[in-house]
Amino acid sequence: MNKDKDKNGKIMYSWAKDLYPMCRSITGDGVRKTLAYFNKLLPDLKIESVPTGTKAFDWVVPNEWNVRSAYIKDQSGRKIVDFKKNNLHVVGYSEPVNKLVDFSELNNHLHSLPDQPNAIPYVTSYYSKNWGFCISHNQRKLLKKKKYQVVIDSDLKKGNLNYGEIIIKGDEDKEILLSTYICHPSLANDNLSGPIVTASLIKWIQKLKKRRYTYRVIFIPETIGSIVYLSRYLNHLKKNIIAGFVVTCVGDNNTYSFLPSRKENTLTDRVAKNVLNHNVDSYKVYSFLDRGSDERQYCSPGIDLPICSIMRSKYNAYPEYHTSLDNLNFISPTGLQGSYDILKKCIKLINANFIFKTKVLCEPQLSKYNLYPKISSKINYKNGKKLQNFLAYCDGTNDLVNISEKINEDAFDLIKLTQELLKLNLIKKL
Ligand code: ZN
Repeated sequence: MNKDKDKNGKIMYSWAKDLYPMCRSITGDGVRKTLAYFNKLLPDLKIESVPTGTKAFDWVVPNEWNVRSAYIKDQSGRKIVDFKKNNLHVVGYSEPVNKLVDFSELNNHLHSLPDQPNAIPYVTSYYSKNWGFCISHNQRKLLKKKKYQVVIDSDLKKGNLNYGEIIIKGDEDKEILLSTYICHPSLANDNLSGPIVTASLIKWIQKLKKRRYTYRVIFIPETIGSIVYLSRYLNHLKKNIIAGFVVTCVGDNNTYSFLPSRKENTLTDRVAKNVLNHNVDSYKVYSFLDRGSDERQYCSPGIDLPICSIMRSKYNAYPEYHTSLDNLNFISPTGLQGSYDILKKCIKLINANFIFKTKVLCEPQLSKYNLYPKISSKINYKNGKKLQNFLAYCDGTNDLVNISEKINEDAFDLIKLTQELLKLNLIKKL
């Protein structure tokens, strides 16, 4: 079992290595290459195109951005900053530029982090025209007050926003949504870990012999992608989604984090907290006020989808976030696998969550059914108590997750217990 987990973690990490060098943004060739890579892993993934100019609520799909090269040359003709060495060097959505500038003009277009002098920051300017370069603060300090040739060979033209979608049918029309984004360039925890763990989860879901719920999984550019998707399928999603996760920041080995939905008490919230409570030593609980990804759209008023996030180091809350330090060394096979395991448990629990009702009045005489140990001892008392407590809340109003929380017992132990109780005809599934 552990060998399998080890292997799966390493496979996911190898996908990260393949995908890491691609220059992604909210649109463009990098997104298409990334989707094509996932399409090879997941042949059922459908790749959709939404043209520039398409309206989505208050937003419009922007021009497509592509960049071929970007560099700064000093007066001796030496490239001192080169996009080919690290794609974080160019500000995302930079308009084309090719000119000789003096230091003060260049300086206005440079981004660096004085507090993290070795790190290259990740900066974008999707919706206001600009150009710029990101460099380490140490390098910036070495720049001389001379002239520099700045070149960004990019274009911003009518094109498409692309996203990937895969729907895996279950017995019921009700759906579980997994949403992940594919718009960051060479950055590992935020965001490559998200689509990678999602892809591995899809492979597991596809192999299941029986599926209760239907799965809807989307690989979108963050923000504009979820807004476009919601604008296309809002009624369907509102009617069918019973639970879901934004899968992001799931690659490192640090403490787990939980970000609730706006309503805080949806099925997803309850399941996520339950699985974390019973499976990890500790985790950080954030508030919806700390949101920062597509739950901003999914949980907004009038949309109201039950979407949460379980993360490792949460975006905006670790020093390496949105810098060149969030690289392949920051994530690990075990980090990816740990997140995969926790999300898989959440999905399993959502599927196993039913409301039960006892079929007898008063406590059943458990010893009659070989359920309650016939010999009374302290240990047996504890096991018997679990069963009695479970039955005490099987009143036709509490679902399994509720009961698990109420009686502080692992939900997966209770699932096993319900299977026995159903066989003995002591409870019924509502
Ligand atoms: Zn990000």
